[in-house]
Amino acid sequence: MTEIQKKIDLFKDHQKIRVDFPILDSIIDDNKLTYLDNAATTHKPLSVIEAVAKFQKEANGTVRRGVYDLSVKSTQEFDRARAKVKDLINAASIEEIIFTRGTTESINLVAFSLTEALKGNLSPVSTSGGRKSKLQTNGEVEIAITSMEHHANIVPWQINSQRLGLKTSFIPVTDKGELELEALYNTLKKDSVRILAITHVSNSLGTVNPIKEIIKEAHKNNVIVIVDGAQGISHTKVDVQELDADFYVFSGHKLYAPTGVGVLYGKKSLLEEMPPYHGGGEMINIVKPESTSYAELPFKFEAGTPAISSVIGLGYAIDYVNSIGLDQIGKYEDYLYKNAIEKTKEIEGFRIIGQATNKAAILSFVFKDIEAFDIGTMLNQYGVSIRTGHHCTQPLMNRYNISSTARASFAFYNNEQDVEVFAETLKKVVKIFR
Ligand SMILES: *Cc1c(COP(=O)(O)O)cnc(C)c1O
Repeated sequence: MTEIQKKIDLFKDHQKIRVDFPILDSIIDDNKLTYLDNAATTHKPLSVIEAVAKFQKEANGTVRRGVYDLSVKSTQEFDRARAKVKDLINAASIEEIIFTRGTTESINLVAFSLTEALKGNLSPVSTSGGRKSKLQTNGEVEIAITSMEHHANIVPWQINSQRLGLKTSFIPVTDKGELELEALYNTLKKDSVRILAITHVSNSLGTVNPIKEIIKEAHKNNVIVIVDGAQGISHTKVDVQELDADFYVFSGHKLYAPTGVGVLYGKKSLLEEMPPYHGGGEMINIVKPESTSYAELPFKFEAGTPAISSVIGLGYAIDYVNSIGLDQIGKYEDYLYKNAIEKTKEIEGFRIIGQATNKAAILSFVFKDIEAFDIGTMLNQYGVSIRTGHHCTQPLMNRYNISSTARASFAFYNNEQDVEVFAETLKKVVKIFR
């Protein structure tokens, strides 16, 4: 895709997008697929599928090791993908872009290495020299976590808190599904609080958190912020420097790329002071029986052979998203979401969970008299794929005294017909149960 190519107008030329996603033509039990589980994973455009296949057929060398042509070719493609990620989120340098297996691994990495550094186990290759580290502390360390986090942004903090004897505390959520900002800001003022774990966009409620303001407030209080961008990255333009995020993490597979690759963005000054997470090949400088020195960033945090073809696929997925533009994607998805609400709100007993003022295109709903699971199972018989369950956010479900919701989540490749089919089928299914 060349840069001069005119951007596709999703509102006018949507059919041009659909042909790039062959899976959307699938037939499920004689019904055309209506895929509305994009918050769980997204489908890949042909350009990504073909780039991955081409790599397997024509390059398939390991990266940064071989002197032979295939390896050189792989390394070039791999490095290009890293540069595309850097540009996508406007990181200051490629040293700040670390490839992981996904959001979950990115958070586990930060949770381990950052808490280690705070407890004084700084990286042996820390370049901070004689200057006093921003990280080291002898006092109590508390980690503030919001109550709308995915389990991936809760459990790693609990594991490491147990390991090092740290505290965790939870920021409450309002009835509408927004963070209680006053409670959050009061928590940030506590001396013991050093880390805030917060999602950009809630995968259960669709709430878009005002992370720029929150990060500003956190920094006034010397609190390091890790943003879970698993949902944020695909719905909005992210500029990590403008946000001043300390860490921003996401998964390739929710951004139209293959599974097996994720991104950890971290500020260089912090990453340098953090000890490695996984040990092995690629992350070392010199290995001796008695001690080992580590590689420079970003390689210090990339032990072992990476998911090369998935990383390359991610690069192509970013090209694809850029060819439409994230601003336009956000507007179009918002249009579909509002359309869906218009068509479903009159259904008797339909209740939306998550009514934040600023929301992404994620529609979570419940009925008092029908289980979410039953709704999802029946919808599937008509080819409509939605998610039901707790969406890996049990603390949030408890907050609303429910055990699960049904969730329809939209991507830019969905169209008005998908919304129509979803709403009409939902009405039909509800009638069957009543
Ligand atoms: C999906 C998701 C995760 C976990 O992502 P993985 O790809 O499973 O590692 C974490 N947080 C949020 C908000 C998510 O939507």
